[in-house]
Amino acid sequence: MRQIKIDYRRPNPVPQPAPRPAPAPNQGRPPVRGGGTEHPGKTRRCNRHPGVHMVLAGYNTEWNTVRYLCPMCHAMGLPPVEVATGVINAYFPEKGYGFIENGGPRIFFHLSDLATRFTPQLGMPVTCRVEANDKGLIGREVTPR
Ligand SMILES: [Zn+2]
Repeated sequence: MRQIKIDYRRPNPVPQPAPRPAPAPNQGRPPVRGGGTEHPGKTRRCNRHPGVHMVLAGYNTEWNTVRYLCPMCHAMGLPPVEVATGVINAYFPEKGYGFIENGGPRIFFHLSDLATRFTPQLGMPVTCRVEANDKGLIGREVTPR
């Protein structure tokens, strides 16, 4: 069985909206759907409703985040999910927190908000869900990308 390798890494953090014309005929790769500032082809599921795929619902220009909507959460009156794509630009291991830069207001994150076990490093590309409190923006489920 032939394996098709797809490289989902995105070396350039700037979204590239320019559509490519017809792909080379022998490439054998499925077309990448979606886009935006997230990994191409990556779909996002709701936390509360893991079986539900959320739909891209626009951009939050104030936070520079991509907004996703779970139809079921929406029906329950819950707010959409804001997703940031950025890099870790400050980290204080002894204090257990740091900040993410995504082109909007800085996003605070705490070690307890890492989605997986990893050691944050300066310049590390990450995504996270963003919430706000009275002190500013907070990153949740911080994930390396
Ligand atoms: Zn939901």
